[in-house]
Amino acid sequence: MQLMKVLIISDIHANLTALEAVLEQAADEYQAVWCLGDLVGYGPDPNECVELIRSLPNLVCLIGNHDQAALGKIPLERFNQDARDAASWTKSELSGTSEAYLLSLPSRVSFDDFTLAHGSPRQPVWEYILDPATAEMNFLAFETPYCLVGHSHLPLVFRRPPENGQTELKAVRWDEPLQLRPRMILNPGSVGQPRDMDPRAAYAMLDTEGLTWYPQRVDYDVPAVQRRMMEAGLPERQALRLMSGW
Ligand code: ZN
Repeated sequence: MQLMKVLIISDIHANLTALEAVLEQAADEYQAVWCLGDLVGYGPDPNECVELIRSLPNLVCLIGNHDQAALGKIPLERFNQDARDAASWTKSELSGTSEAYLLSLPSRVSFDDFTLAHGSPRQPVWEYILDPATAEMNFLAFETPYCLVGHSHLPLVFRRPPENGQTELKAVRWDEPLQLRPRMILNPGSVGQPRDMDPRAAYAMLDTEGLTWYPQRVDYDVPAVQRRMMEAGLPERQALRLMSGW
């Protein structure tokens, strides 16, 4: 692989304002973008987000469970009521072009030192990796030194030393680069719907040359997104949660 800086984004959830804030803050610092899925679902701007993400340079993009739901690929009964309502709204809004693009996306890819999956390498679309025990089992499900995941909307880093030491959860420090060491599972958090009680959009900058992971946050205009959600008739609770990041 060419040595480069990669912008890592996940769980955009049709929040164009948050995505634009991330791209503006990361401006010119990256040569490639890896997007870990859930481009749509919950938010008011599904087509705009798909279009903008597609235009990003050297893009690798995965499909997430909400993208599959919006395509009618999975039964909506697997979602709670709000997610279900948001998914049907998204389904009715998606343009043919957005649909075709989402349909073309893989659920897991591996290249060079990295495996990418929306949820987990073991169950790429559905499983959440939230604790060291689940991470431990997932270390057996990929071969590369590093695996990047999204889905939980929580910025998390798990490490398992190659000599088969214990899997541990590493604390994420904002604005401080983390040195990558084999082997790790890393989650950048969510651009469009953070759930770690911090409403700012979350993403990471990966340096594949220096092997560093740089977790970042950026403020965006939450009330503007909430207004568009209400105008679209999306669930109020989903708009409210953006304010405090839960
Ligand atoms: Zn998501």
